[in-house]
Amino acid sequence: MTTKLYYSDSYLQKFSSKVQKSTLIDDMPAIFLEQTAFYPTSGGQPHDTGTINDIEVLDVYENESNDIVHIMKQPIEDRDVVGRIYWERRFDHMQQHTGQHLLSQAFIKKCKADTISFHLGDESATLDLNQTGLSADTISAVEEFTNRIIYENRQVIGHIISKNELDQFPVRKPASVDGNLRIIEIENFDYSPCGGTHCSRTGEIGVVKITRHENYKEGTRIHFKCGIRALRDFQEKSKILKQIGEHLSTGEPELYRNIKKLQHELKSLRREHTDLKNQHLDHEAQAIFAERKDLENLDIISKVFTDRNPKELKLLAQKLVQYGANTLVLFGTEAGGKASLLFLRSEAIPIDMGKLMQQACAVIGGRGGGRPEQAQGGGPAADKLEIALNRALEEVLKQSDPKL
Ligand SMILES: [Zn+2]
Repeated sequence: MTTKLYYSDSYLQKFSSKVQKSTLIDDMPAIFLEQTAFYPTSGGQPHDTGTINDIEVLDVYENESNDIVHIMKQPIEDRDVVGRIYWERRFDHMQQHTGQHLLSQAFIKKCKADTISFHLGDESATLDLNQTGLSADTISAVEEFTNRIIYENRQVIGHIISKNELDQFPVRKPASVDGNLRIIEIENFDYSPCGGTHCSRTGEIGVVKITRHENYKEGTRIHFKCGIRALRDFQEKSKILKQIGEHLSTGEPELYRNIKKLQHELKSLRREHTDLKNQHLDHEAQAIFAERKDLENLDIISKVFTDRNPKELKLLAQKLVQYGANTLVLFGTEAGGKASLLFLRSEAIPIDMGKLMQQACAVIGGRGGGRPEQAQGGGPAADKLEIALNRALEEVLKQSDPKL
């Protein structure tokens, strides 16, 4: 069993040890030491990183025999080694983890919500509570209470005890290990069995900020940031607010009101724009309908556009089809060097637009189809749009004239 130096001193950044074994695990170099300050992934807290004899430590975990396994970037042949912990990461984990102890107890004290699990990642820290429907006011009260405990700079003490001494401590969760265990006490505030790395006083956490909360598996998931993470988050958000403020020429207190006002203006402008566009399409439809060809008792409209929005073109075609009982629309448009076709007809005309579209698409080297009364398609040969529409028109006339 490896001696766990981080257990008694979470501030230890450099240590020496004899090597017990150097081996390969899943084709990766692995090293076992007599003692280590490297924290292995466990209890929701990720492993430490750093170096052993200047070789990078990639992963650290505890195996079934309670040995700490260090997975290395390269093999180590030495018998004596010096390990160095990457302190930025370790201290960040200590801040988040100790902050979590405080938050978990604060949620019990303020709203009787127990922590079910805790997860710490490189970016996020979350704890899951067994309660739903927590109000924004409750969350805010818990946050403030937690930070007040931080400012009191309470001591964080590790008590190593045997399992039968456990009833002397008002722990908030049962112990999951046998034999001796460690109770982390946040001076007269929280008692919890834990093997993680913690700050020695609450003041080192700096600040705890709950960034958001959400319903999660019959409970609530709390997202939070402590210490340096909270500071970076604050810096990032301040930067974003400043940019938005500068962009809108608005001070921070008026930002929300001004954005709401802008949204309202945008909504009414969009409505106005849609109305005007619709009126414009009506005029265009009337002008196009006036130029229709009257062939075989059909009102035929065949037209090639340049760079028209397909949605708009469809609206235009729909308006035209409503003008008469025997209207047939053959539209083509070129956009971005490609050809698109749109065929629509009144209900009474017994010609299948889907089949007509397949034939026309063959001309522009593409594909298309649709329902008997409406079809669309496209192809690469934009220069053949006129030919494709003429081919479709010939087919319409063929099918409409019984003599042909
Ligand atoms: Zn802990």
